[in-house]
Amino acid sequence: MAEEKSFKYVIVGGGVAAGYAAREFSKQGLKPGELAIISREPVPPYERPALSKGYINFQNKASLPGFYVCAGSGGERQFPPWYKENGIDLFLETEIVKADLASKTLVSGTGQVFKYQTLIAATGSSVTRLSDFGVEGADAKNIFYLRELVDADELLTAMLEKENGKAVVVGGGYIGLELSSALKVNNMEVTMVYPEPWCMPRLFTADIASFYEGYYANKGINIVKGTVAAGFTTNSAGEVTEVLLKDGRKLEADIVIVGVGARPITSLFKGQVEEDKGGLKTDAFFRTSVPDVYAVGDIATFPMKLYNDMRRVEHVDHARKSAEQAVKAIKAAEEGSSIPEYDYLPYFYSRAFNLSWQFYGDNVGETVLFGDNDPTSAKPKFGSYWIKEGKLIGVFLEGGSPDENKAIAKAAREQPSVESVEVLSKEGLSFVSNI
Ligand SMILES: Cc1cc2nc3c(=O)[nH]c(=O)nc-3n(C[C@H](O)[C@H](O)[C@H](O)COP(=O)(O)OP(=O)(O)OC[C@H]3O[C@@H](n4cnc5c(N)ncnc54)[C@H](O)[C@@H]3O)c2cc1C
Repeated sequence: MAEEKSFKYVIVGGGVAAGYAAREFSKQGLKPGELAIISREPVPPYERPALSKGYINFQNKASLPGFYVCAGSGGERQFPPWYKENGIDLFLETEIVKADLASKTLVSGTGQVFKYQTLIAATGSSVTRLSDFGVEGADAKNIFYLRELVDADELLTAMLEKENGKAVVVGGGYIGLELSSALKVNNMEVTMVYPEPWCMPRLFTADIASFYEGYYANKGINIVKGTVAAGFTTNSAGEVTEVLLKDGRKLEADIVIVGVGARPITSLFKGQVEEDKGGLKTDAFFRTSVPDVYAVGDIATFPMKLYNDMRRVEHVDHARKSAEQAVKAIKAAEEGSSIPEYDYLPYFYSRAFNLSWQFYGDNVGETVLFGDNDPTSAKPKFGSYWIKEGKLIGVFLEGGSPDENKAIAKAAREQPSVESVEVLSKEGLSFVSNI
């Protein structure tokens, strides 16, 4: 049996949050051998959003080591040797299959035992699969999902094999939109399928979505709405050849990519930690209900101070910031000091083709569209405000400059009063520039 290994701090999961937590530990002062990161992935923490953007885009290719953390936030890249140089033990291709929080013990798939004094759970999310809904033929070859580097590599291989072929993208969220653009840029014939009346319905208003759907259509992407993939046909090699839609239509496909959501990976901790809204419940310092166990990133359900409720956020900005907050809280507790509560302003973004949008705040209440959302414009620039109880609480902006994006973030944080929707719609972006 493998020797038991003991660490002061263990991070289980080696994604975005783990990488930023490692940087914060290192900043705060770490002795060699104090921290271990255990990840089932074969590479150190990298900026996961790059997978659906540059990594699979043949014309504007991003590769590792280009997007190791903390490149995404303008920080230094933590190349593989960085971990050793900073006294951090990195266990790659190591999956934890059991966590016993009472005895502070983790066990890997090969039986390796890890003991910790403080644990940071950073296991992220796993994709929802069509087989989870019992869709027939969903295990055919050339049906892909995208979460980790290995998934992206499989997809790249298939795109090269099926050059100029037909791709069907199942799902109209940001992953579906980003993937469709990359596939199109790679010269594939692309069809998107989703059941909702418009893309990204969890964030986009109908007005916002109509711009993107129009833009994608102009790029030659076929969009099929109001139905779902109900089955697949395959050839004698077991490769997908057709997507069978619920409404009876069929779409030819050389490859299919599914982006229908993700679920937090909390199974290791089931029954041991208090849960809320599908995640591990934490306080404003990412402490769970179990002493010395913290949860960060996608799996944490934390108090959103700004809106006075509990939320779970599956976005990279929160993964980075929650990780830093947890490490600062751990270190402060050791020194008998304290730090301010986490006060997060939701921030999401996406990039596809030459487009780039940012959103800050909360997308509830009345909405006001401003700017030029004509998909045929040479330089489209538009946005939407969300207003609740007379206050501006959320802002979306496509095509904003760095200063304009800063201004919308400030507005969403400060929540200025709104005199009237008409004024806001007339003033457009200048309303936030004056705040
Ligand atoms: C393709 C893609 C594009 C994205 N684009 C954007 C974007 O544009 N904007 C945005 O805001 N967000 C985006 N996101 C979301 C963002 O990447 C996540 O919110 C973020 O990565 C969460 O960080 P995390 O550390 O919690 O989890 P992850 O980064 O997912 O890391 C979790 C890690 O834990 C490992 N792990 C899980 N279970 C175990 C185990 N039992 N043992 C060992 N290791 C384990 C996983 O292998 C993984 O390495 C994107 C996500 C994907 C998949």
